[in-house]
Amino acid sequence: MIDKISSATSTPLAPLEFSETLTSWQKTYGRNDLPWQQDVTPYRVLVSELMLQQTQVTTVIPYFKRWLQHFPTVKALADASEDEVMALWQGLGYYSRARNLHKAAKFVVQELNGQLPENAEELRDVPGVGPYTAGAISSFAFNKPAAIVDGNVKRLFCRYFGIEGDIASAKVNKTIWSYAERYTPTFDNRRYAQALLDLGATVCTPRSPDCQQCPLKTSCNALATHRVDVLPEKKAKKKTPTRSGYFLLDINDDGVMLTQRSGNGIWPRLWCLPEILEPLETAPIHGRFKHVFSHYKLEATVFSLPADQSGQRVPIEQLDNYGLPAPIRKYLNTLCT
Ligand code: SF4
Repeated sequence: MIDKISSATSTPLAPLEFSETLTSWQKTYGRNDLPWQQDVTPYRVLVSELMLQQTQVTTVIPYFKRWLQHFPTVKALADASEDEVMALWQGLGYYSRARNLHKAAKFVVQELNGQLPENAEELRDVPGVGPYTAGAISSFAFNKPAAIVDGNVKRLFCRYFGIEGDIASAKVNKTIWSYAERYTPTFDNRRYAQALLDLGATVCTPRSPDCQQCPLKTSCNALATHRVDVLPEKKAKKKTPTRSGYFLLDINDDGVMLTQRSGNGIWPRLWCLPEILEPLETAPIHGRFKHVFSHYKLEATVFSLPADQSGQRVPIEQLDNYGLPAPIRKYLNTLCT
């Protein structure tokens, strides 16, 4: 189907024409009613951008709304305890983002007088704010001409400009950033940045991009050269390794025994069933669960056994007040239903 678009050329539009094409497409076809696009403030953009790292928009929306109800300002978040922050984040995964967001809020309140800077360079000084997030805050919160490059933009640019090489390599990353900077418009960058993300998420999708509906179809290199299916190039993925984990379930009428994990390893600082290093030959197995992390799969076995008393016994009805890893919460929920 896509090969039938005979008018495609492999010459990209000039920056101004490119940004005008995208912004006018965004007005009609883009996403303009996301919660963080309403009542835009730098804090709301910061929260949404950290939540959106590695997570789909539809998953983030309820978390974002709940977060803003609990922590409506950067000061409210800075004043919150770590347990409150982790409890609200639970289920979203990649918990370092919650800790970074908390650190960022404290930094903004303590070092920046409660104000996030407008400029992407200065935003990089805020903990947890990398190049993409800095560009996104500068673009979305302040409408400044800052380049943004996330997974959507990388894919779109590789195809549109015909960029070859492993998309995860430093070389390709540098090339993409240089296009991103050259093509960032000096005005209305908020809409342009949103257009890039929207086009990548809804039209130039990883699989089966809808080139017929794409505003860039007449000048897209990948389309003109029949390489939509091969760009961006990716190195073959290594098989995800599997690791075993062993946990203790000590539950009675007073609640379940939990321990707070250390700051290292998986689920740092979250409350969890006590973990042991080796399987127990003699203890009865209560159940098993699996969880997929970005770098490995966990196959967990849960033993029924009294844990030592160094943890905290938490009444079941109070579990929502604790930051628990999603698979542990899910496991415990199955016991209560
Ligand atoms: S959707 Fe198709 S035409 Fe549009 S940029 Fe992606 S590959 Fe090119």
